[in-house]
Amino acid sequence: MNATEPTPARPIPAIAVPAPGSAAGPAAPLATAQAQLASAVRILGYDEGLHQMLATPRREMNVAVPLRRDDGRVELHAGYRVQHNISRGPGKGGLRYAPGVDIDEVRALAMLMTWKCAVVDLPYGGAKGGVTIDPRNYSPSELERVTRRYTSEIMPIIGPERDIMAPDVGTGEQTMAWVMDTFSVNRGYTIPAVVTGKPLTVGGSLGRATATSRGVVHSTRAALAEAGVSLAEVSAAVQGFGKVGSHAARFLAEAGTRVVAVSDQYGAIRAADGLDVPALLEHVARTGTVTGFAGADPIDNETLLGLDVDVLIPAAVEGVLDERTAGAVKARWVVEGANGPTTDEGDRVLAERGIVVVPDILANAGGVIVSYFEWVQANQAYWWTETEIEERLEHRMAEAYRAVSGLARAEGITLRDAALVIGVRRVAEAHLLRGLYP
Ligand code: NAD
Repeated sequence: MNATEPTPARPIPAIAVPAPGSAAGPAAPLATAQAQLASAVRILGYDEGLHQMLATPRREMNVAVPLRRDDGRVELHAGYRVQHNISRGPGKGGLRYAPGVDIDEVRALAMLMTWKCAVVDLPYGGAKGGVTIDPRNYSPSELERVTRRYTSEIMPIIGPERDIMAPDVGTGEQTMAWVMDTFSVNRGYTIPAVVTGKPLTVGGSLGRATATSRGVVHSTRAALAEAGVSLAEVSAAVQGFGKVGSHAARFLAEAGTRVVAVSDQYGAIRAADGLDVPALLEHVARTGTVTGFAGADPIDNETLLGLDVDVLIPAAVEGVLDERTAGAVKARWVVEGANGPTTDEGDRVLAERGIVVVPDILANAGGVIVSYFEWVQANQAYWWTETEIEERLEHRMAEAYRAVSGLARAEGITLRDAALVIGVRRVAEAHLLRGLYP
């Protein structure tokens, strides 16, 4: 059975895209995502046809994104939008700008979005987009042009009832405002629900910017509570200090957790007695990096993963916890703020070592939950208070955690397998109930 409707790939000159799993990139995220699905399919006892349906992206679009640089030169970037599954509702997923983005990475992230939306029971499928570009090397006006061209190229397959974008690595509120504007101008009227994670003044939601991090902290609290431990009693290290990691570190510190180390792509820092997170946030706002922060010692980026802390929060990129680095983890809990930070082998090593992993599709679902709230508000043109949003987010995260942890205990499986089983089963049920057309 083949559910793919691929659009023909257009040859895109002058772009070097690393092969999946090559030396140029981390362990192939698609292989990890497929192995996770296979594990859930095995537990659920599904046949090969259903497995293929669940494994195969429903729709993919490869686009060439020409950019006129500020100095007049023209260069081409590869762009992708993958709708992995749309059986439970419109595709939902972020837009990533990074130099290593390729179609397999986007496929993997789209698949994760499908299970994530299902595990927290949102009426969405899973999607993801990406442009192969390093945004640090481009001016704001160049990034605006890339965003607008990419949006207009993928216009036929996006929309509030088709596929809804959100920020991811290398993109943010401003990117979403440009996407929303480009889509709206082409339709002739304002359509805020085509994206989430946009600025408040153009229909964004209160609480969206910090929702993923809040969700990470809610799920950390829930995981610790199962061992009778509170956030105030533990130490933590956070890899990545962007939209997810920085606020997660802040909320943890506010809850009394000793945040002893953080990192970004430029380096890592450590303060054994705990970092002054508000001061660190000011330092990052000023300098653009955690490195050079007074009151902390520089450490090697990889050293952070093996620090003697209670909680490790990878909140940067995929594939960082592999067989080798997972073997060095000393934390008792790993809470996945990032998507796909643990490879399949890394996951096995962590499980064998008795380390509790709160999986990405549960731990970082706070972002898509509040994106859903933003979409609902935009569709209704009625705005909720911050308190309403925070309470509903906490409630949904708690419900999802309870369901996943209950299944894990009942079946003697990991939290990851339990979350996948719940998500995959909901999607499979939608497939089976809807039937196969024609
Ligand atoms: P971001 O671009 O805002 O931040 C990424 C951070 O990671 C930056 O601080 C960057 O310097 C750092 N980084 C990159 N490579 C690194 C490395 N090798 N070692 C250490 N740090 C490194 O992106 P983000 O939105 O915070 O996303 C981070 C992760 O969380 C991604 O996996 C993303 O898919 C996932 N996620 C994001 C959201 C969201 O709402 N933004 C929601 C769910 C999941």
